[in-house]
Amino acid sequence: MAKLTIVTYPAEILETICEKVTQFDRSLVKLLNDMYDTMLEADGVGLAAPQVGIAKQIAIVDIGDEHGRIELINPVILEARGEQIGPEGCLSFPGLFGDVSRAEYVKVRAQNRRGHVFTLEATGFLARALQHEIDHLQGVLFTTKVIRYYESEELEG
Ligand SMILES: [Zn+2]
Repeated sequence: MAKLTIVTYPAEILETICEKVTQFDRSLVKLLNDMYDTMLEADGVGLAAPQVGIAKQIAIVDIGDEHGRIELINPVILEARGEQIGPEGCLSFPGLFGDVSRAEYVKVRAQNRRGHVFTLEATGFLARALQHEIDHLQGVLFTTKVIRYYESEELEG
């Protein structure tokens, strides 16, 4: 496994619509493992392939709860309900945090590393993380959705 370089804003790849994955091979498994290591090392709860320079529909999420490591290939949000407003950040925007409105509940369909389709329902912070990462795969950045940015003094407390 290896640590990858995280692309920071501005970069064209961060605003690119990513391509669907069609090959579920060993290079995909290696990429997922490397992305996971990279995310943990950077102290993040999610990472999308464009953030490591790859314009493919691949993302990982691990918010440290019982769901553990979630690998999302070609994910689609099937249902979204309710609203939550809360702080969000992004590994591609170091030190930047802002309040973002997200659905409180989402149902996501995706493929795993073997190409098998699964669905996942989530609420609260996990739902937020899933929406943030799936946005990345469409070239949508959280900064386009921020309601209010946090001042640095607010972050120190
Ligand atoms: Zn992000």
